Amino acid sequence: KRVLLWFRRDLRVADQAALHHALKSAEQVFCVFVLDRDILDGLPRADRRVEFIWAALNALDADLRGLKPGAGLIVRHGHAGDLIPQLAAELKVQAVLCNHDDEPAALARDALVAQRLGSFACDFKSFKDHVIFERSEVLTAVGKPYSVFTPYKNAWLRKLEPFYLLAYPVAPYADALATSPLATGVPGLAEIGFEAAGLSPHLGAGSAGAQDLLDEFLQRIDRYDDNRNFPSVKGPSYLSVHLRFGTVSIRQLAMAAWQRMQAGQHGAEVWLSELIWRDFYHQIMHHHPHAMSSAFRPEYDAIIWEQGPAADRLFDAWCAGATGYPLVDAAMLQLNQTGYMHNRLRMVTACFLIKDLGLDWRRGEAYFAEKLLDFDLAANNGGWQWAASSGCDAQPYFRIFNPVTQSEKFDAEGKFIKRYLPQLAKLPPKLIHAPWSAKPLDLQACGVLLGRDYPLPIVRHDEARTATLARYGAVKNKA
Ligand code: FAD
Repeated sequence: KRVLLWFRRDLRVADQAALHHALKSAEQVFCVFVLDRDILDGLPRADRRVEFIWAALNALDADLRGLKPGAGLIVRHGHAGDLIPQLAAELKVQAVLCNHDDEPAALARDALVAQRLGSFACDFKSFKDHVIFERSEVLTAVGKPYSVFTPYKNAWLRKLEPFYLLAYPVAPYADALATSPLATGVPGLAEIGFEAAGLSPHLGAGSAGAQDLLDEFLQRIDRYDDNRNFPSVKGPSYLSVHLRFGTVSIRQLAMAAWQRMQAGQHGAEVWLSELIWRDFYHQIMHHHPHAMSSAFRPEYDAIIWEQGPAADRLFDAWCAGATGYPLVDAAMLQLNQTGYMHNRLRMVTACFLIKDLGLDWRRGEAYFAEKLLDFDLAANNGGWQWAASSGCDAQPYFRIFNPVTQSEKFDAEGKFIKRYLPQLAKLPPKLIHAPWSAKPLDLQACGVLLGRDYPLPIVRHDEARTATLARYGAVKNKA
């Protein structure tokens, strides 16, 4: 039997469900990745995600060759809907295997591919790989999907058995990898119309890069709960981009956390909860695809957001990190400069856009989608709808983050702020969170003139808060 293994968001050879099944079920397994023009054509020439994928593909190709000399990755550039059926026909395979991708656009693409393969009796089969529990695997006692996190998490933990975390062995079956003259290596970035965008070297490339990050994180996982909310501290794992593209296996991470949790490590328990949030939002996407483009709670679609040129100027200032609120601005600069933003800051900047600037959460969601290296439709949408109070298990609409209090609490010394706003480097902690409330002479002594070195605030939080309560109150009263 000959099969084609189609890599998508699972760019590794270790513990890869579809690869395992392919190697076990066939004598000849060809491996392909499509640089899909349906996605790539809309991107800027310098895109960090493309660079990350490109590095991961080179590592994957080398890993496949390491498993069996002469094997390797076939890389195609074009439209997956056309190329996969063409390649399957050319290689005369009986089946195309891959892992589930539950994003609506991916499901539509896969349906098209399956239909085209069906026209010449080639099977299309996919497997769970990206999450621990997917789709309808965790349901309430009456068989309904959960829309509140804590009961979902409890049910998830009750269902968990070590079996679900076991790795899918690949190496013992590597003999079935096919050698193919089509596996000519990964084309250069320039050949597919891209250029280097400048990835942080700390991120690491491919599975080896993910493993380095994991090894380092496991040294400090016991302090995760104490550190995870403070953006100037190395608290989280920074593994999100590797999870996004599958250069690390979720089973490996969940197993590492679960074993430590069994041994009584609180930090590991909290981190496992974060991995469960990821599963939670994936099953929300599966059961409520409408929420990927409109409010999970439909009454919130009636909210009237600020619009027009003045609102556009507020949005531009938010994107550029020029709102006059130092923590918000430093966070946006972190995103723009590195493609990463700390989770606490994602919450702060999202709430600021929605509840201080009065802008539609979808504008912020789209900006994050463009900039985040770890952009994931389900998690990003979940995070934004949480902040907009329109999602499942969301922050109540009247609970509005105060950006100054958040700054005092989570960056008390202003260390994170100063990393991205060096012009504020001399401000003492008592002035840095709300520089506009300082005496101009005190600011001057620190070399800062507001309006010249750093913007004046573009909104007043107390006024914005009142407006937001009215904006939300209007739709709540009608509901
Ligand atoms: P860690 O703290 O080490 O967490 C480990 C892993 O758990 C993460 O890599 C991630 O896969 C998962 N995780 C953690 N928190 C969440 C969460 N709230 N929801 C779902 N999964 C979670 N995460 C993304 O992966 N992609 C996104 O596009 C994304 N957009 C977000 C937008 C907003 C407005 C908010 C509030 C959160 C968003 N998150 C997103 C969730 C979270 O901020 C990131 O997963 C986290 O910051 C990634 O850093 P880390 O890997 O160091 O996290």
